[in-house]
Formats: sequence, structure tokens, C-alpha cells
Amino acid sequence: MEGLMQDYELSLQHVLWRLERLHAHKEVVTKQEQGVHRTTNGEMVPRINRLAGALKRLGIKPGDRVATLAWNNYRHLELYYAVPCMGAVLHTLNLRLFPQHLEFVINDAEDKVLFVDQTLLPLLKPLIGKIPSVEQFVVMGNGTPLPDHGLGDVLDYETLLHAESEAYPWPKLSERMAAAMCYTSGTTGNPKGVVYSHRSQFIHTMGVLQADNLGLTEKDVVFPIVPMFHANSWGLPYACGMAGCKVLFPDRFMGDAKSVVDLAEQEAATILAGVPTIWINTAALLKQTGQRLPKVHTVICGGSAIPRSLMESMDAIGLRMLHAWGMTETSPLGSVARPRSGTPADDELNKRLTQGIVVPGVEIRIVDPASDEVLPWDGVAFGEIQVRGPWIARGYYNGYDPGKLTEDGWFRTGDVAKITPEGYIQIVDRTKDVIKSGGEWISSVDLENAIMSHPKILEAAVIGLAHSKWDERPVAYAVARPEFKGQVTQEEVIQFLQDKVAKWWLPDEVRFIDEVPKTSVGKFDKKVLRASAVPIKESAAPAGRK
Ligand code: AMP
Repeated sequence: MEGLMQDYELSLQHVLWRLERLHAHKEVVTKQEQGVHRTTNGEMVPRINRLAGALKRLGIKPGDRVATLAWNNYRHLELYYAVPCMGAVLHTLNLRLFPQHLEFVINDAEDKVLFVDQTLLPLLKPLIGKIPSVEQFVVMGNGTPLPDHGLGDVLDYETLLHAESEAYPWPKLSERMAAAMCYTSGTTGNPKGVVYSHRSQFIHTMGVLQADNLGLTEKDVVFPIVPMFHANSWGLPYACGMAGCKVLFPDRFMGDAKSVVDLAEQEAATILAGVPTIWINTAALLKQTGQRLPKVHTVICGGSAIPRSLMESMDAIGLRMLHAWGMTETSPLGSVARPRSGTPADDELNKRLTQGIVVPGVEIRIVDPASDEVLPWDGVAFGEIQVRGPWIARGYYNGYDPGKLTEDGWFRTGDVAKITPEGYIQIVDRTKDVIKSGGEWISSVDLENAIMSHPKILEAAVIGLAHSKWDERPVAYAVARPEFKGQVTQEEVIQFLQDKVAKWWLPDEVRFIDEVPKTSVGKFDKKVLRASAVPIKESAAPAGRK
């Protein structure tokens, strides 16, 4: 017997409907060169309709890819709705990719129209003549004359909208249709395209909103400082549309801690979101200036593990971090670290520092990569995280890397973790970052966290370098806090670690650098460190064993 419920297609058109019917008065505020741009959902909806009309006039058909090269701003949000709701596929380009990667992803996706922020036009110069699928460029201007761009005839976003009708007959969509695509950040090899469907986006949005997950409500003022090209800004734009939150966008001032703090204060932000490196700088600034953000109740943080020292310093200035784990391939929400009921007060911080509990809708297991054996949740055994669920990728665009899916349908994440009996996930490392020394594993993440808890250290990344006897040994790259530059030594760091990690984990060397290289989405880029690393001086006694 079948159920008698409607076969309602889950699509982003529903979010657009709520934006118009229920949340028209809610504001969308974008930081600008001078002041802010302020609009409301009610003003944006007719523009979204016009944009869909313009896309149709440009020949965009269901399934066609429409690329965006844009910061977090209101026009990008308009594209977030118009493109998928008219049946096309929104392809958000990562503006921090190297030109050859950008060229690769545009060609791989065969983008037909490319929308670009005026300030980002220079990024397209190296691609001229190399992206033949793009039939039309549309520039989202900032009111100043266009620089010399070499792209031939380009269209102006506002002129394009102006010529269209305020009404658009949205087509009936099937929930399995592609809505958006996002390429993985490509720390190894070429980026790979993850294709979200309307259904996956809809269900993910509902998941994001749950109280035990990110818990956005209609009363919130949400400030996503995670790029709209990074896993759809962690799904926050659609979650805000669904719930009716006021939204703040940093535009190109995303990396400027002062602009971020000032906008959050002026617009009474309640939820901030970004990777740990953003908060390392923000915490340092707030500590220095004494400025506070009392309205902020949650700082969503994911993308890499939160160092204990960072969570403690954020707690001390009244900014409560909510740790989440996920990846582009998981839409991205996979787990959230909210201590479970009954957690003793003195254990809360430990629990908040884990990657948390897998969210409803997603199933998780850890597997020994060598034997394929599924491991117990005992807080000791660790293996690769594998996940499955309605917003988890089942493959990449154009069929790359088919081995990422197991034969029984689980997605191999490449993250190594243990899981406690209560279900807390603790990521030990990426499979490619874990250090294999003398047949045992050393967690680069744990070592980094221990080093970053040193009061004179701002950032630290640890990599394994070849060693003739031990196979690999850890080497730390550390950045001193500005006020301690030149005043912290390798010996001091090693001494500090003595009671924090096992003796054989102590790095063989601590190398001081000015800044840890970052990936295009702001994570520590160990690939760059590895590529330029000088070999370990095996003749000298390791730093930890002098
Ligand atoms: P991306 O697809 O660029 O977002 O990268 C996803 C990867 O980031 C994951 O597979 C993890 O290795 C890492 N990651 C994301 N969130 C966390 C977290 N909370 N703790 C540790 N690593 C994380």
C-alpha cells in the first residue's frame, strides 16, 4: 500500500516563494567601498524575476550552466535564486583558484554565461580565448567606468535587468534536476565538480535550520563570511531565505577583520560564520581594541578543526563558537558539535572541540582503509569517515574519481576519525596529512592544536617529512604572534609540548615563518609547505630529543 501524501517536488522555488510571501520586509545588507548597500527581499524578488527573464533571453535553457565570479553580495544572491529556479545550474567559481584551475573548471562545466563582479574582471584576463563555451559575459558594475578587460562585448547587469519584466513564469521543476555546482578546492590535482540537486538543497536547508544543527531562526541576523563559492556559503543563503533571517554580506572585505567586526556591530549580527583563520584574526583584533559584539550568540566555524586556544580566546571575548564538520561533497553540513544533555560543565569545552554528532539525515561509519573493516565507535579505533544520505554526493561531474563511492554506496571522505560511544566524531587527520612515523600514526591536527595553544604562537601547521629511519617525522611551521616575532625559539615550543603530546610525537624541527600559506578557501595549505620544505637535518639531534 502506498502513502497518500502529495508528490510535492522539493525545489528552491519554495524558498523563493517564502522570500516573497513571508519575508519581503527582511533586509539584505552588503558592505561597499563607502557605507553599505541596503535592500529588502521584497525589492529583490522583482529583480530576480527580471534576471530569469534576461537569462532566458540570453538563450539559457534548463540544465545549462551559468557561472558566477563574485564576492558575497546581493547580486550574487539574486543569481542564487534566478538561475536554479528557472531550471539552469548555478556554477559558483572560486575566485581564488589559479588561472589554470579556473580555466579547467569553466571548460569542464561548459559554462554558457559568466557573471562577474567588476572588481574581479582582472581575473578573467589570463583566460581570454581559452574558455570557448562562454558565449556571454555579464559585468556586475560598481558605478565606475570599466577597466580595459579584453573580453569583447560585455553586458551590464543592471541594463540587462532593466529591459525585462517584473514577472516571470517560473517553470515546473523536477526535484532531481541539478540546481548548482561547486568544484572542490583542488588541494590535489584538478578540482572536481559536485552537482547539487534541488532536492538535496531543499533537504539540506531543512537540516541546517534544525535547532540542534545550525539553528537559524527568523529573528537572526546572519553574516556569512564564508564565500558564496565555497559549498554555497555552507548553505546559509538558502537557510536564511527559508527562515527569513536578515542577511549581511562582506563583499570584497571578507578578509578584513575590522570591516567584518564593524558591519556585524552596526547591523546587530547575531550569527557569524567562517573558517578558523578568520576568527584567529578577529579574536586578535577584538582583544587589542576592546570592541565587543554582545548581540552575536553563535559563531559557526568549520572547514578545519578549531584549535582549543582559539575557542578559549573567543569564549573570553563573548563569542561562542559552534564547531561543524563537512565538505563540498556533503553540501556541506555533516556534523555539529553541541554537547549532549548531561554533559558535565567541565567537559563542555572538550565536546565543543570535537567535530560533533552526525546530523539527522546523514549516516556515518569509520572504516579501516587497509582491510575495509567497519570499526567500532569506541573512541579509540580510527579509520576513514564514510557517509551517506540525501545531500551526500554520489559522484563527480563528468565521472571523475568513481572510486570515491564504495560498492555499497557510501562516500569516502578522506578524513580519518574516531567516534566515541556517544557519537562524537573526532577527526584525527586527512588521510593524506597523517604522519606515519616508525609504523605508527601521528595526528598533524593534534600537534598543530597543541602548538597553537602556546601563548606566543599565532598559527602552526605540521607536515611529515621523509626520514631514513622512521619513514616520516613531523616538522612544525609556526608563526609567532606579531608582538613576539623573533622572540620565540624552537626549544621553547618543544619544551611547551613535553606534557601535551607523546614524546615520539615531538616535532624534529620547528621552523618559524611569517605566515602559513592558505588554500583558496582559507585553510592551511600543507601542499605548498611540502613543496618548498627543505629536508630534515638528520645529522642533528631531533629538537625533541636533545
Ligand atoms: P572543503 O570541501 O573544501 O570544504 O573541504 C572539506 C574538508 O575540510 C573535510 O574533508 C575536512 O578535511 C576539512 N574539514 C571541514 N570541517 C572540518 C572540521 N570541523 N574539522 C576538521 N576538518 C574539517
